[in-house]
Amino acid sequence: MTETATRPAGRSAMHPVPYRVVSRIAENRDSATLVLTPVGESLPAPQPGEFMMMYAFGIGEVAISVSGVPAASDDTITHTVRAVGAVSRALHDAPPGAQIGLRGPFGTSWGLDTAVGRDLVIVAGGVGLAPLRPVVLAALRDRDRYGRVTLIAGARSRDEFLFRSELDDWANGGAIDVHMTIDVPVQGWPGEVGFVTAPLRRLPVRPDNTTGFLCGPEVMMRNGAKELSRKGVALSDIRVSLERNMECGIGWCGHCQLGPLLLCRDGPVVGYDAAEPLLRVKEL
Ligand SMILES: Cc1cc2nc3c(=O)[nH]c(=O)nc-3n(C[C@H](O)[C@H](O)[C@H](O)COP(=O)(O)OP(=O)(O)OC[C@H]3O[C@@H](n4cnc5c(N)ncnc54)[C@H](O)[C@@H]3O)c2cc1C
Repeated sequence: MTETATRPAGRSAMHPVPYRVVSRIAENRDSATLVLTPVGESLPAPQPGEFMMMYAFGIGEVAISVSGVPAASDDTITHTVRAVGAVSRALHDAPPGAQIGLRGPFGTSWGLDTAVGRDLVIVAGGVGLAPLRPVVLAALRDRDRYGRVTLIAGARSRDEFLFRSELDDWANGGAIDVHMTIDVPVQGWPGEVGFVTAPLRRLPVRPDNTTGFLCGPEVMMRNGAKELSRKGVALSDIRVSLERNMECGIGWCGHCQLGPLLLCRDGPVVGYDAAEPLLRVKEL
């Protein structure tokens, strides 16, 4: 997990910068991936795990993690948005050509640099695969930098996976191990039925040489982290991405406080050694 990204000089972190939608891919019934390009001024490239505040003009602003990794020469930013309320619906529906305001990047990254040479266990539930996609892409791009890479992705049903054709490519490509599980069985489903913790429980891990990356519903992250910990992986080698209501993005307003942490600044990616005692307290 790295430091908060440096703000470009002379521009307020509270000032949304206009970006244009260059492509929109419908991932499933309620999620879409948007590739955005700057209309004028561009923002620093977000690191895997960091988030932007996305502004649907005239409607409002929400925190959305980055779901892609731009090439070095490219200043596009990619987000995958699930429509759950007014703002996320407006973002999700934005067609190519539409303008969206962006602030950021904010928060901590997945800290992939500290996992070089290690095995990666990536566990994603539902839309939690979006913030983890850049980890998978980075591992595939620099495959030799890491040991064994395992992705366990879960969704409620077969039709609710994000990045479905990429998932199939990753599974068939052989460079990483991919396990896909669904909660609701359906005829013809070739993968597993059940929670992501089932394949995780069976997974052989080298506890001293494994870094875990978990993103999804909090209960999934708690149970997934517990499984990894039971296998001997240190809590500090397990990273989770925590969501709270984020407003300013820079640790001013306090909306995203979780115990001593302001998650927009000290998170969203937090080591499980810090997260575990906080997530144990209901309604904190
Ligand atoms: C750091 C961070 C990263 C995030 N990354 C992503 C991302 O990559 N992709 C993404 O789609 N979302 C992401 N989110 C969640 C996103 O910010 C919320 O879904 C969004 O704020 C909802 O705002 P809204 O105004 O559209 O809905 P609201 O009007 O706030 O909510 C409408 C209804 O949806 C429910 N709801 C709100 N959020 C969720 C949720 N996450 N899941 C299920 N129900 C919900 C509410 O309880 C309410 O009933 C992230 C959040 C944080 C804090």
